[in-house]
Amino acid sequence: MIVGIDAGGTLIKVAYAEAGEIHFAKYPIAEMEQVADWINGLDQAAICVTGGKSGVLRSFLTKETAEMVEFEATHLGVQYLLEKMGRSDDAYLVTNVGTGTSIHCIQNNTQERLGGTGIGGGTLIGLSHLLTGLTDFDEIVRLASNGSRERIDLKVKHIYEGKEPPISGELTASNFGQDLFSISSELSVEELLATVIGLVGETVSTVSVQAARQCSSSTIIYIGSSFIENALLKQVVESYTILRGSIPLFLENGEFSGAVGAMKSL
Ligand code: ATP
Ligand code: MG
Repeated sequence: MIVGIDAGGTLIKVAYAEAGEIHFAKYPIAEMEQVADWINGLDQAAICVTGGKSGVLRSFLTKETAEMVEFEATHLGVQYLLEKMGRSDDAYLVTNVGTGTSIHCIQNNTQERLGGTGIGGGTLIGLSHLLTGLTDFDEIVRLASNGSRERIDLKVKHIYEGKEPPISGELTASNFGQDLFSISSELSVEELLATVIGLVGETVSTVSVQAARQCSSSTIIYIGSSFIENALLKQVVESYTILRGSIPLFLENGEFSGAVGAMKSL
């Protein structure tokens, strides 16, 4: 068996191949010791670990493991998952919306990190929690999908009253920028959560599209667990990316890119 493990800031992603078939699993970072016990109990396995918490994970392991820088692992994994989708792209950006967000340009078979933003999946959970008290990612995403940002986000057209704006009036001028003082007690949990997702989605796509100017391609491949079962975040990112002139692509099983790359390196 070959096993790739990406221990990130929030989730541990595992990819393993057995009898030619690839399996995926993910665990909260709090379950690191259980993941380590599973690895320690495997016989005849080749293992490669990556991600910011891989050093901590390794300290629980009794087996010898290879280690890889997460950006290289992600690059390798994205290449493999793209091929699986029947695509043969060789130049693109990768935006990994994990706990934080990291943006990379892939061209000439090498990856270069172009930048990132602290607005990511951690922001989605953290800000949602502060505003609503909720803690469960799936519940946050489910409720957000029924919310409207209409009363909370300030659009360009709201500022350009009675006058044609020089850019699309539908663009967000200010996330959470409406005059909220008078309506703050009326706002629903759904509205607040939808607006948090809008803030995260618009920020990661705006930064990605700007980064695309430094890359020969304008295809942006979005990965990371923040997109799991999160149609609203995908929709915000997709429409904002297109509006700003780039081409979005959501990779199937993209959240496992790092784990797949670590596995493929063996
Ligand atoms: P980083 O790469 O920044 O070190 P990571 O690899 O742990 O972090 P991902 O697993 O790609 O990051 O994404 C983490 C985000 O995914 C969380 O911040 C949250 O928004 C979202 N998420 C999806 N499913 C869950 C879950 N079951 N529990 C917690 N967060 C989840
Ligand atoms: Mg990660």
